[in-house]
Amino acid sequence: MSEARKLLIEAERIDSYRAKCKASILNELARSQCKYAPFFVSPEEAQRLRGLIYRIELLNGADIVILHSSADNGFPHTRPKAIICLPDSAVTDAKEENLSDLLRHEAMHIHQRKFPELWRDKCKAEGWTPVPTNEIPLEFRRRCRINPDTCYDTPFWAWATHHVPLPMFKNAESLTLSDVNIEWLDRRTGAIFHEPPKSFTEKYGSPSQPEHPYEIYAVKYAAAGISSHSALYNKLMTSD
Ligand SMILES: [Zn+2]
Repeated sequence: MSEARKLLIEAERIDSYRAKCKASILNELARSQCKYAPFFVSPEEAQRLRGLIYRIELLNGADIVILHSSADNGFPHTRPKAIICLPDSAVTDAKEENLSDLLRHEAMHIHQRKFPELWRDKCKAEGWTPVPTNEIPLEFRRRCRINPDTCYDTPFWAWATHHVPLPMFKNAESLTLSDVNIEWLDRRTGAIFHEPPKSFTEKYGSPSQPEHPYEIYAVKYAAAGISSHSALYNKLMTSD
């Protein structure tokens, strides 16, 4: 058995990500055209990738698994304990700058997996509250896209106590993983809003991935060029 396959089997044993997707009608439907299996990139691309990873201290010790280009709709992600899963379409012919930013983003997710307490404290300090999964009404929970980078610990967080972003599949006959809107659940009333609360926009603007604070800060810190443990630690310990 290939090393990549072994890593994925061990990851599944820990996070049950693929099993969770299979057990969800919409998540399974949205992945019906996706082939979640190890793949490869050319030796030149592999060498280029190694060179870029080498420059990111946070990725020391991480495993890389190249997946089929259609895996999870081509969305790069991480799996436990420290695997970066890269569909080959995210690597082959990708601009160096984009690939480096992507690797830093995934490095944040690896760090979140390794140091959940640090990240939970950071999120709380910035105004987020973890929400028990069973508090989210089942009818909404069933419509949420499962994200391997956020599904393992606390998938749901409320901004400013009350407002929970939910990555909900659109009502469509043929779904893909891209067919998602971020809706905002008001915990006080159970109402769903299409727009984020004003205080959220004032703090974060319009982030590309507002579905979870782990994504918001992964995007933010990758864009800031954070690649070392000390630089990231400083960010986690200060307000921004
Ligand atoms: Zn992410």
